[in-house]
Amino acid sequence: MISIKNLHKRFGKLEVLKNIDLSINTGKITAIVGPNGSGKTTLIKCILGLVKPDAGEIRVGDTRLNGHWSYRKDIGFMPQTARFPDNLTGKELLHMIKDLRDMKNGFDEEIIEAYNLTDELNKPVRNLSGGTRQKLNAALAFLFSPPILILDEPTAGLDPVSSSALKDKIMKEKDNGKTIILTSHIMSEVQELADTIVILLEGKKFFDGPITEITNGSGNTTLERAVAQIMKDAQL
Ligand code: ADP
Ligand code: MG
Repeated sequence: MISIKNLHKRFGKLEVLKNIDLSINTGKITAIVGPNGSGKTTLIKCILGLVKPDAGEIRVGDTRLNGHWSYRKDIGFMPQTARFPDNLTGKELLHMIKDLRDMKNGFDEEIIEAYNLTDELNKPVRNLSGGTRQKLNAALAFLFSPPILILDEPTAGLDPVSSSALKDKIMKEKDNGKTIILTSHIMSEVQELADTIVILLEGKKFFDGPITEITNGSGNTTLERAVAQIMKDAQL
């Protein structure tokens, strides 16, 4: 369980997260959605300890975040914009990252296999297409089979086949008991994957609950229509 209480974050004068309270259930998929700039990535970075909140408390399992980062070994992170040391080939990058971690049970390379990345891994990372970089980004997040996965717009830039393969992997890892947080602008994807949806609007939590609660309550049949309605109503 990840619990967030009374979280505030501002960048200069800009209040980016306002009084966020949130519990993220173990073994479930939680989708964070909201317009561009609503604070999704900042919220994720607070959980990762990459952004320091101005107020509030975050607990990841039994660890209260306070500047010690050992809990991060339990998290696989797929950043929205992955930056790699450009001169390395994918293979060198994987070797380097694997060297950092002693994995007795072996690495999870299912994504590398599913994407048939072997040839691409021989190229310098700077020469990879955006989609292939995103595949490498996914491969690295799942590599250590961490109990928590945080995926920031994981399918952005992927073709339909690659996107489906990643969604299959996400569901498989949920079935393996992993806790997964993802962000997405694709509501059909959220509907397909997520148990719980969190809607952020201008840094405030606007909704947090099961997806069916939104679709049933609004009279809209699709999640996209229902979320669009909520966002429009909020701006009135
Ligand atoms: P989202 O992921 O929902 O699109 P972000 O969390 O990336 O939104 O950004 C929320 C707001 O915070 C935006 O207005 C963005 O410009 C601002 N922001 C994010 N990171 C920084 C930063 N490091 N410094 C200043 N402003 C930032
Ligand atoms: Mg973002």
